[in-house]
Amino acid sequence: MSGIRGKNTKPELLVRKALHAKGFRYKLHANDLPGKPDLVFPKYRTVVFVHGCFWHRHEHCKFATTPKTNSNFWIEKLSANSRRDQRNKLQLQTLGWRVLTIWECEIDEAHLTKLADTISAMDSNGTSAIK
Ligand SMILES: [Zn+2]
Repeated sequence: MSGIRGKNTKPELLVRKALHAKGFRYKLHANDLPGKPDLVFPKYRTVVFVHGCFWHRHEHCKFATTPKTNSNFWIEKLSANSRRDQRNKLQLQTLGWRVLTIWECEIDEAHLTKLADTISAMDSNGTSAIK
């Protein structure tokens, strides 16, 4: 089953391409930030995580399944992922970053437009028009 997703259809690349086309400039995989956010927008004090629904436990999502085999192992592993995500988010917020997440199953034109609007709604002063 490997190779079903070609390199260029990787969710993260789709998000990068779309935002780049909308004129955003960003840094990738900031190793110096908690959780290494996939995209960093210093101008907007915003980071974006592109999360796979399974690994990051997208709530109420049909892709966030729990394997039937070894289920205890998976429950522990996957809930550890969620806890880590939550911890990283809090740390980033403490550092003054706004944290946005786009889920793999949501990557379409409508969601990407909304994401772009949300990012640009915050100016470099750290004030947001939305929240
Ligand atoms: Zn999902």
